[in-house]
Amino acid sequence: ARAAAAARSTGPGRTADGHAVPLLANIGGPKDLPAALENGAEGVGLYRTEFLFLDRADAPGHDEQVAAYRAVLEAFPGGRVVVRTLDAGADKPLEFLPAGEPEPNPALGERGLRMMRRLPRTLDAQLSALAEAGRDTGAYLQVMAPMVTDVADAEWFAAAAAKTGIQHAGVMIEVPAAALRARHIADHVDFFSIGTNDLTQYTCAADRETAGLGRFQDPWQPAVLDLVAASAASAADAGRSCGVCGEAAADPLLACVLAGLGVTSLSMGAPALPLVRAALARAELAQCRAAAEAARAARSPEAARAAAAERLPGLA
Ligand code: PEP
Ligand code: MG
Repeated sequence: ARAAAAARSTGPGRTADGHAVPLLANIGGPKDLPAALENGAEGVGLYRTEFLFLDRADAPGHDEQVAAYRAVLEAFPGGRVVVRTLDAGADKPLEFLPAGEPEPNPALGERGLRMMRRLPRTLDAQLSALAEAGRDTGAYLQVMAPMVTDVADAEWFAAAAAKTGIQHAGVMIEVPAAALRARHIADHVDFFSIGTNDLTQYTCAADRETAGLGRFQDPWQPAVLDLVAASAASAADAGRSCGVCGEAAADPLLACVLAGLGVTSLSMGAPALPLVRAALARAELAQCRAAAEAARAARSPEAARAAAAERLPGLA
């Protein structure tokens, strides 16, 4: 019955009592657009642009980048498209970029925005292509940086974006330091998007690429939920939006908990959209908040999930 309800679920994301939680798609490029549209995505919450840069001898040129970004923006007239700037390094080395120092711990090394701070021309070229692609498409373009760690990172990225004509710059919150200082980071950017994959990895100090670390790779860890709550509260205080674009958003029960923690939109792989839409439609916001509070009060990820399931019956 639930699968049938999910298959029928269409329209924008909202709770049973009508609180809007836009449901967006994570994509790796224009090839992922058909699935996003078929599953009713209201926009794109995470465009992982690194796929355009991987496995090639040269950086993509200006026109190639503009075309790849424009194709996505044009698919969502009136919708939102959140593009993430190049997240290279760690598990995603780029052949054409000059290597930095050898790294014994790449996940703790020069990845994401850190690499772009060493290679600002690569970032500027991408931002310029994005600014051009964003003109007159009817979509609302937001551009965010990965692996932002502190206020200085956020300020630096916001300045680079403004200089190239990007109007809406934001940051991913995926490093615990950024979550803890979100209040101050919010002074410099328009929006947050929480990356629960890396936020879990860095909060629990458990490599996301290593199999078998079990409960330390679980976004239901109450410590992770606390950091999501802190980020969402800081965003709300500053009048900023705060989405989630990690895998956690694709778990229907956790998606409701995230909404209850104050997250304002959810972005996920397209196949998860119908189930998450159906789950939200069955839960009232007050129930989501009660489930979120109970999950944060739990002592383990299993207990957090069980406590949430009790307050959102039928969703687990
Ligand atoms: C994340 O870290 O949660 C995220 C969405 O980014 P990626 O999985 O691409 O690192
Ligand atoms: Mg990440």
